[in-house]
Amino acid sequence: MAKSDVKHVLTTCIYCGCGCGFYFKVKDGKIIGVIPSQNHPVSKGQLCVKGWNASEFVHHPDRLTDPLIKENAVPAGRQGKFRKASWDEALDLVASKLKGHTEKSGADSVAFFGSAKCSNEENFLMMKLSRAVFKTNNIDHCARLCHASTVAGLAATFGSGAMTNSIGGFEGCDVVLVTGSNTTEQHPLIGSRIINRVKEGATLILVDPRAVQLAKHAKYHLPQTSGSDVAWLNSMMHVIIKEGLENKEFIKNFTEDYEELKKLVTKDEYAPENTEKITGIPAEKLKEAARVFAKSKKSSIVYSMGITQHTTGVDNVKSCANLSMLTGNIGRASTGVNPLRGQNNVQGACDVGALVNVYCGYQKVTEPEAKAKFEKAWGVTGISDKIGATVTMVPNLALEGKVKALYIMGENPMVSDPNISHVEKGLKALDFLVVQDIFLTETAQLADVVLPGVSYAEKDGTYTNTERRVERIRKAVGPVGNSKQDWEIICEIATRSGYKMSYSSPKEIFDELAELSPIYHGMDFDRLEEKFGLQWPCPDKSHPGTPFLHKDGKFKRGKGKFFAVPFKPAAEMPDNEYPLILTTGRNYFHWHTRTLTRRTSTLEREVPESYVEINPVDAKKYNVRNGSLIQVSSRRGTITVRAQVTEVPKVGTVFIPFHFAEAAANRLTNDALDPGAKIPEYKVCAVKIGGK
Ligand code: SF4
Repeated sequence: MAKSDVKHVLTTCIYCGCGCGFYFKVKDGKIIGVIPSQNHPVSKGQLCVKGWNASEFVHHPDRLTDPLIKENAVPAGRQGKFRKASWDEALDLVASKLKGHTEKSGADSVAFFGSAKCSNEENFLMMKLSRAVFKTNNIDHCARLCHASTVAGLAATFGSGAMTNSIGGFEGCDVVLVTGSNTTEQHPLIGSRIINRVKEGATLILVDPRAVQLAKHAKYHLPQTSGSDVAWLNSMMHVIIKEGLENKEFIKNFTEDYEELKKLVTKDEYAPENTEKITGIPAEKLKEAARVFAKSKKSSIVYSMGITQHTTGVDNVKSCANLSMLTGNIGRASTGVNPLRGQNNVQGACDVGALVNVYCGYQKVTEPEAKAKFEKAWGVTGISDKIGATVTMVPNLALEGKVKALYIMGENPMVSDPNISHVEKGLKALDFLVVQDIFLTETAQLADVVLPGVSYAEKDGTYTNTERRVERIRKAVGPVGNSKQDWEIICEIATRSGYKMSYSSPKEIFDELAELSPIYHGMDFDRLEEKFGLQWPCPDKSHPGTPFLHKDGKFKRGKGKFFAVPFKPAAEMPDNEYPLILTTGRNYFHWHTRTLTRRTSTLEREVPESYVEINPVDAKKYNVRNGSLIQVSSRRGTITVRAQVTEVPKVGTVFIPFHFAEAAANRLTNDALDPGAKIPEYKVCAVKIGGK
């Protein structure tokens, strides 16, 4: 076949929130490889190992090809056998079960999980199904598990819960403070930008309990104790204010409630010498880092889930915002507070309203004007104005008999959620579970009905990356077997439940989304074709998009708001019985619950099994040999995992990646929640070496 018979289809990477652009190479209806886009503003001709291998799973023989129904799932403890079913039978069953429960037990007896892996259009329809058809705000997705505290914390301080600046902006920073982000492994093309900038002379401050790869490039690696974020951030601000390094003009002109912050952080308890015993960070090093951050012209804070996944997640985020406002590092290029969103479309799934408290564009469900607007647009009445149940609340509500049916699209809580044994009990307590996915995940195995959706290579739509860039994905190949477009499945269920939902294409869904969302209002598929998408807010058709927020101190909420945040310890700290801190995270070669990467030979070959990183000092103390299989236990469970003796984690801390169902770190993690954002504390729990 001639070379010209190879078709190139531009799309957006399915893995991390960098949102790199690449072309699928398609021949004879199959994807035969990918090549990076040279001109894409993030990828610029490069990809990480996951991006280069982002097509193999598409044609994997494990793909689901037909709807599956499990007879008598509940009496059999959800372990029964599946049989193939027709679409009509499966869709009728799903619609009748969801409808039956809401008629019998009320609207809030059903719940819906959207997905950060799915497109904006699919998540928009999932939230419309939940709100317009079933009249419940029980619609959520895995942002609850990763950046719910960012959305809440930055909305409270700045008025907008998103990354303030752009990925390209890291190329102009003087100082980058990275905390709780293993950037080179989780957001590789941001990590490489930071390293390149450091090589050009910028200063890198890394605050992390692990000496991750960035530590080699950091002038200051401050090895904090997990869960001490508010303490070290308040301590930095203590130094800055005591030494008169705060940006007085910025504070006076653009912020409010500074005096409360000052009163708190200048207390003696936040002097670096006094926080040292909480944070584990040597006082002199912290002082130097604080001075460097405050004195530079362009300091940028970069954080990820090491900040957000705590019972104090919102406090941690507010403290990052405090530091940036205190030094005037916000509202300009190459500054700001930059939460790196994990999955490809976690930003978008939030933007389009797959959250319990907001419609698309962060319009609150509790505001009567918003409710009236959406009722009118969708031609319904009786939409709920009560905030719904989060992903993290649903297992308990199922066990209490309050949530009876759950529809999960593209998520895998049986690996991703904390305290999996408890999640499993919750899922098994449901009367009806439907899972829509492309593989039979650990969660799908528990379902009554499995609906085969399509992969990102088989669909049109949009994702929104971490820098708020809405970009296209494009259909490159046809669906597998009898699988169906995810948006069509949702429309079918809505229609069979009594609400006619019908669209001709994802483009038409996006038009409705843009019409209803002020931040996407100026976008359409034609505009998104230009220059690799647009960054929100983009309020009208002539608007060029927004590379950084809060320009010239004009915060979305008016003035930037300081919050005086006292330090609180994590919910579960080490003790005599469980003497080590467990922190969890990701590995460069895998992604999330490994549904896709375990079916990608190169990635699986590099890291085929889980491991626990343990410092040599702890290894000696607990008699652990490098490479041996050991048990690690918390109060919630025990896993067997291979020991990796390494100086990466600090003494007293062990690290386990959460990707591996076979040795699931989330059997150990604590499901204690941040009281506001309801995000779990994945980053700190107490464990021991050995069985329970
Ligand atoms: Fe994909 Fe992220 Fe790698 Fe880019 S950096 S290729 S978006 S996984």
